[in-house]
Amino acid sequence: MDLKGKIALVTGASRGIGRQIAITLAGYGAAVVVNYNGSKARAAEVVAEIRENGGSAEAVQCDVAEFGRAKELIDGIVKQYGRLDILVNNAGITRDNLILKMSEEEFDAVLATNLKGAFNCTKHASRQMLKQRYGRIVNVSSVSGVMGNAGQANYCASKAGVIGLTKSVARELGAKGITCNALAPGFIRTEMTEILSDEVKESMKEQIPLRCFGETKDVAEAAAFLASDEAAYITGQVLHIDGGMAM
Ligand code: NAP
Repeated sequence: MDLKGKIALVTGASRGIGRQIAITLAGYGAAVVVNYNGSKARAAEVVAEIRENGGSAEAVQCDVAEFGRAKELIDGIVKQYGRLDILVNNAGITRDNLILKMSEEEFDAVLATNLKGAFNCTKHASRQMLKQRYGRIVNVSSVSGVMGNAGQANYCASKAGVIGLTKSVARELGAKGITCNALAPGFIRTEMTEILSDEVKESMKEQIPLRCFGETKDVAEAAAFLASDEAAYITGQVLHIDGGMAM
């Protein structure tokens, strides 16, 4: 895959899956904007790693849940680079709780980052992509958005919403050379999943036909493919990267 000359924005790229997506896109030649919210030092490490390997990257702080800030983020990229080819909506959080105990704040916070954040960036990026008549939007959903998960009503609702957003945007923008697809990772080893107890992890492995957890590179390579010209005829799809968990 060749992403040379492409400008990419990866939201939530200071850690975990987003970090690996940023490094992978840069490895295929894209100039990458590494978005972060609170982890400034870690975003700087991602940028340094990309540059050490001969790639191009810069870190930009933005809480993607804020509509106006997301607009500033996208406008800044267009001003600096003149275009935006690839948008990866990866930023995500969890605030797990059983439905009876879940607070309004826990529900709203997860929807704001995971679903509205993806809407905010997609809306603002699509204006530029329409002008270019070219764009690749990759949304990071989750197997939980497809299957549901006890204790994650907020997270699952947000990730199911991301799938609806993906399919609608794919239908709206397809005729203008813009594709929009979703990734549905299963259990991927990151800080988000590290906090789960060994008991929960073992019971999850039992539900995975491949009997192991995924790595961030498994998701990142799929993201790079959907962002590439090799995937030009693929849109509105949900690609499961879950060891067979949700088939
Ligand atoms: P993670 O290690 O917790 O990293 C989350 C990233 O999102 C961080 O870079 C964080 O940045 C960023 N972020 C959070 N809120 C943000 C906001 N408001 N604005 C901008 N950035 C924000 O999570 P992960 O495991 O890599 O997950 C990445 C994505 O994959 C998420 O959408 C998640 O739901 C999805 N996913 C993960 C798994 C899994 O098993 N790990 C499975 C399915 C789907 P700061 O640190 O700078 O705040």
